[in-house]
Amino acid sequence: MKGMKCVCGKTAEYVKNLRFNNYKIDGWKCNSCEEIYYNPQKAERILLLNKLKKQVVKAKLGRIRSNLVLRLPRDIETALNLHKGEEVSLKVEGNEIKVVPSLR
Ligand SMILES: [Zn+2]
Repeated sequence: MKGMKCVCGKTAEYVKNLRFNNYKIDGWKCNSCEEIYYNPQKAERILLLNKLKKQVVKAKLGRIRSNLVLRLPRDIETALNLHKGEEVSLKVEGNEIKVVPSLR
């Protein structure tokens, strides 16, 4: 990752460990005027995660042959960066199911 031009005219350097809403995020920081530019895709995901944390999201169960299929809403797909074909782990805890994405 290279630097990007800052609004002040100097170059903002790429930094790996910025903080954004308690999450680690990369981006660019200008050493001249201290302006910070967050990685836009990751910043969007963090905002979405924060939004989802405050709500209960409804999802529908479908059926393919003998299996029930859980359809995840698009917001959750985006926030957790999930992809079709990816393996997730299911943990049954009491009467609840926890879906855990594999480590990436
Ligand atoms: Zn600057």
